[in-house]
Amino acid sequence: MNSDRSIAILGGGISGVTTAILLQMIGYRTVLYTCAEPSYEPDAARPSEFATLHAAASVLPHSVSSPNVARWTGISREFFRVLAARAGCGVRGQVHYEIFEDPVLAMPAYAESVDNFRFLTAEELSDTRVPRRSGARETHGWKFDAFFCEAPVYVRYLYLLYAEIGGRVLGPAGNGGLSDYLALDHDIYVNCTGVGAHAFLRSATNDARCVDAPSEPDFEPLIDPVPPKLIRGHYLRIDTKGVVGEQPFSYNYKPLAEIYRNAAGAPADVYCYPRSDAWILGGSRQEGRIDGGRWVGDQTVGEEIEFRRRDGGSLAVPSAILRLNADILLRVSNGRLDLERMVRDDPVIVSPAIGYRFVRDSESDSVRTGCSRVEFGGARKYILNNYGHGGSGFTLSWGCAFDVLQMVGTVVDRSARAVMPRGWARSDVRYDTVRQALANLIARLVSREA
Ligand SMILES: Cc1cc2nc3c(=O)[nH]c(=O)nc-3n(C[C@H](O)[C@H](O)[C@H](O)COP(=O)(O)OP(=O)(O)OC[C@H]3O[C@@H](n4cnc5c(N)ncnc54)[C@H](O)[C@@H]3O)c2cc1C
Repeated sequence: MNSDRSIAILGGGISGVTTAILLQMIGYRTVLYTCAEPSYEPDAARPSEFATLHAAASVLPHSVSSPNVARWTGISREFFRVLAARAGCGVRGQVHYEIFEDPVLAMPAYAESVDNFRFLTAEELSDTRVPRRSGARETHGWKFDAFFCEAPVYVRYLYLLYAEIGGRVLGPAGNGGLSDYLALDHDIYVNCTGVGAHAFLRSATNDARCVDAPSEPDFEPLIDPVPPKLIRGHYLRIDTKGVVGEQPFSYNYKPLAEIYRNAAGAPADVYCYPRSDAWILGGSRQEGRIDGGRWVGDQTVGEEIEFRRRDGGSLAVPSAILRLNADILLRVSNGRLDLERMVRDDPVIVSPAIGYRFVRDSESDSVRTGCSRVEFGGARKYILNNYGHGGSGFTLSWGCAFDVLQMVGTVVDRSARAVMPRGWARSDVRYDTVRQALANLIARLVSREA
């Protein structure tokens, strides 16, 4: 191993910052390199590629597939429980509804990873406080107690937490290619570069100093064999403070396909995630990729509405996002909340946006968390991956970060004959131990602030 045992985390979105916190918290020295830090100021640039800027964010797995989703969601839930207990972190508990106009037969795989999951009875579904479209003949669905991240507050808190425990945040090395980082004095790299992850890994293959050396069953090839895929999401940010109804709640609502559908003809869902700084109304899930800066893939089926953007341009979004949500909100608010009228009267409260949910194009595993080993200029280096979380990066963040922590503690440390940080035996690395360390850290900060 080199003398500098610090671990380089590449990427400052939700995956990077949670991974950096866990590693730093248990005693590894880390450095977080990022091209951009998330900023949620109303006038901040929101590139579609930087996914963390586009989540509201609810803690439930959407637009992702992996055999590990339920496990990661369950681990994350325990970390969110710790965070929600501390006012000011930007995490709260609230009821979440998933409602469908077509009958639902199957229980979702995540049902056991969330609190108080249950199917709604016909009587509950007809309660005016439960989301329903005015023309719906029947509805089906479930509710559970979800954690919800007020992304602007929460992500800022995570960066503060990381700084508090000695984490360092730096800009990208050189041109931001993998070789630029491998040339630095680190042995272990965690790749959390999001949508650019595939190209980022490939960038090192042009460098004669970099030789892919998996050679042991624990290690994967450097280049990702599964191609990338984007799931485009349109949404409206409505500058209205406060929550809908007396208690905060959120929903996803899927009407019949004849009302709103995707390019494959299947019913598509809209959602409302009210934050305290703005409501986030979505959405769409259009599959495709970017080619030469242009979207190549699914288009909106049906009508679109053109909204003005703050930068002076405009953006067309599926009209269902406003119309269906307005219809549902009018009912749940008992006629008090007429969103279409609010938007007509004061169009500047609406900011339209598009974000890309990035996955690997695989039905069986769209998330990559394996480890690769390369020889770079004669030195052995490890690249741990943590990308492809689709519409669930916040939801899966702590679970995936925990897997990275375990990978560092087993595959990499064993192979490099290194040890876990002082005070941590390998058998200690259970998520409840790490979660307790986070609780202690938050308590320490609270008592110091007091
Ligand atoms: C519309 C929409 C709604 C969503 N809603 C939810 C939700 O409700 N709940 C939920 O759990 N998830 C949601 N998601 C998904 C979630 O936003 C993503 O899964 C998550 O943000 C991915 O985070 P990330 O850190 O992996 O990637 P990103 O957020 O894309 O971050 C990548 C980071 O890598 C940096 N980077 C890139 N290349 C380099 C380089 N070479 N060197 C250094 N840094 C580099 C970038 O600057 C950036 O900081 C939503 C996504 C979208 C688009």
